Amino acid sequence: MNCSECGKPYPPSEAIGWRKNFCKSCLLAMEDRARAYEAKHKPYLEPEVRSKALHAEFLLNLRGLLQLCHPDKHGGSALSVKTFQWLMKVKQDLGG
Ligand SMILES: [Zn+2]
Repeated sequence: MNCSECGKPYPPSEAIGWRKNFCKSCLLAMEDRARAYEAKHKPYLEPEVRSKALHAEFLLNLRGLLQLCHPDKHGGSALSVKTFQWLMKVKQDLGG
């Protein structure tokens, strides 16, 4: 049997399911990659942390958003007024 990852032959595997299709060293490499991915992204996989990070990122960009859609820059268009007012309300709601 040849490994689905590296293509090299390997002895019959005692693994079950999809793991049967890979040699031992490729399976270990996959597990390492999976662990590294999880360690790197874990903070962003937790809903609460992700929500806090988004909140902070939004506040960082809020000033720019307010500048970009200021009605003075858009001839007082209805959309700019509506969006600017909404952003101001969000800013207040978030304590910004
Ligand atoms: Zn392999």
